[in-house]
Amino acid sequence: MNKKQDLLNKIDLNLKKVEARVAAACQRSGRSFHDVTLIAVSKHKPPSLMQEAYAYGCRHFGENKVQELTQKYEQLPEDIQWHMIGHLQRNKVKYIVGKACLIHSVDSFRLAEEISKESLKKNVVSQILIEVNMAEEESKFGVTKEEASSLIQEIAGLPAIRIKGLMTIAPYVENPEKNRQYFAGLRHLSVDIMDKSIDNVSMDILSMGMTGDYEVAVEEGATCIRVGTGIFGERDYEVV
Ligand SMILES: *Cc1c(COP(=O)(O)O)cnc(C)c1O
Repeated sequence: MNKKQDLLNKIDLNLKKVEARVAAACQRSGRSFHDVTLIAVSKHKPPSLMQEAYAYGCRHFGENKVQELTQKYEQLPEDIQWHMIGHLQRNKVKYIVGKACLIHSVDSFRLAEEISKESLKKNVVSQILIEVNMAEEESKFGVTKEEASSLIQEIAGLPAIRIKGLMTIAPYVENPEKNRQYFAGLRHLSVDIMDKSIDNVSMDILSMGMTGDYEVAVEEGATCIRVGTGIFGERDYEVV
């Protein structure tokens, strides 16, 4: 069999493996498998590989660059749900409003304001998550857990935008148990915010867990996991 076919078969196997691990993590924590959405993170991966994941049944894909998302949006089936998971600049907001089903990475009022403005123009309502930098890593975007609540109160007053929950990118670690505290912390934060009953704000979505730590994230209540390498293999940053 040629190399390309090997790679495609591998994606099916990888997806089966991820699903089995999610199911096991759900079982360990008394959760339902159907409450966890697997987002296939396809950044730097060609549409041909994404088609294979699509054929397997994936309908949620995550991208971290606006241009890559909009290009693939044109090339791939219409029923795909596109997730914007990367840092978003205000001048690029206009390209993805109406295309992304969920923007995971909102961490400032000015960005939310821009999303709201573009959404009004396009006559859509944009669903967003607030990105929280739980480990307070210098290199990462996101608000601190102390800032989250006041930012949410502020954004909730904007039209054409709905806050659906929280997102975090945990540190890169060898032992995923080290990230359990951050996932549990994000869940606690979402409960605290829910208790404030703010209009236009729900805390239904917790986007947390990547290839190295999604099982722990599921155990701690993730409703969206973002898995790239575990599905598509290592990324080659030379090619888009
Ligand atoms: C790339 C990326 C992922 C997926 O990372 P893997 O370790 O390959 O699973 C998840 N979330 C965000 C925000 C990313 O940028």
